[in-house]
Amino acid sequence: MGVPRIPLSAPVLAGREREYLVRCIDDGWVASGGPFVGEFERGFAEAIGAPTAVSTSSGTAALHVALLAMGIGPGDEVIVPALTFVATANPVRVAGATPVLADVDPVTYTLTADAVEPLIGPRTRAIVPVHLFGHPADMTPLLALAERHGLVVIEDATEALGSYYRGTPCGMLGDVGCFSFNGNKVITAGAGGMLVARDPERLEHMRFLTLQARDPGHREYLHSEVGFNYALSNLHAALGLAQLERLGELVAGRRAVAARYAAAFADLEGARFCTEADWAETNFWLQSILVPEDVREPLMDHLEAHGVQARPFFHPLHRLAPYRDAAPAPLPVTEGLHARGVCIPSSADLAAADQEKIVALIAERLAFAG
Ligand SMILES: *Cc1c(COP(=O)(O)O)cnc(C)c1O
Repeated sequence: MGVPRIPLSAPVLAGREREYLVRCIDDGWVASGGPFVGEFERGFAEAIGAPTAVSTSSGTAALHVALLAMGIGPGDEVIVPALTFVATANPVRVAGATPVLADVDPVTYTLTADAVEPLIGPRTRAIVPVHLFGHPADMTPLLALAERHGLVVIEDATEALGSYYRGTPCGMLGDVGCFSFNGNKVITAGAGGMLVARDPERLEHMRFLTLQARDPGHREYLHSEVGFNYALSNLHAALGLAQLERLGELVAGRRAVAARYAAAFADLEGARFCTEADWAETNFWLQSILVPEDVREPLMDHLEAHGVQARPFFHPLHRLAPYRDAAPAPLPVTEGLHARGVCIPSSADLAAADQEKIVALIAERLAFAG
């Protein structure tokens, strides 16, 4: 199997990526601590209206240090949605805490306050809403609930750079926001992540943890805590900065793709294209349709046979070996969405002709209303 002719979500490297990468080599600065790292962090902070941002080697690393810096560890429970990438829950485990899985909303596919509330107990310390596929979770009720129970809110905004909740950028709503720049996200750094936080001291503690927790200002290697090598390299930051410069265009590209799908699928019987809640502005990072259960597999086969990459929604976490015991209650919405969901090509530069082909292939497996 080669590379699919029409991938699900491909990077668009059409800006100053090459120029910046060459500059790293010319300057001899490829590793962490280089000039692009600071520039990328400042540019990122500005892009989402944060005072500062701290880069990390991945989104997973960002989630891990966010949890640690917020004091979450053994004995603590952290509520995460069951419908998400496994990297939302894994750092909770790695931090020594216990993930508790909650169901999601059938329209936005994200965590709801109604699903979270009954799961809150004496050990609950944090909620990690995920802005799945780029669509914001309904944060106002979640934040109110967290406030009432004294819980930390860590946004998994890894998919949601460029998305807004009631006018506020995703990642800026909770105590901490975590982003990812892996290869298929809205912008890529090859690999990488970013942290923003309400409390600047906590954010600086996160930075400290990403730098092996080395105490600054000493010749000796002194470490007052256990830290990690989670820093971003200058090479990655160079790529990330070039991508960030074109964030607006890249989001606009995905939104245009979504508008074309929405129009094309409007009359498709038995299928539903992903939507945008009226309080949301989504980056439409990954776009999807819900189809009848018995159509899901044949549809993905059909698309892949024609060189179109398609994939199911993330597997419900409670059906994965490490998280089999993590759901205290049934998760019917997560299961129903997983049984019916298919992610379809959503790249910012998806050509109109390719998109027409995708729509036609999907229509061959579903019926248009007469
Ligand atoms: C991509 C992603 C992550 C992890 O980010 P990496 O940079 O790949 O480590 C975490 N959570 C979700 C929901 C993601 O989509």
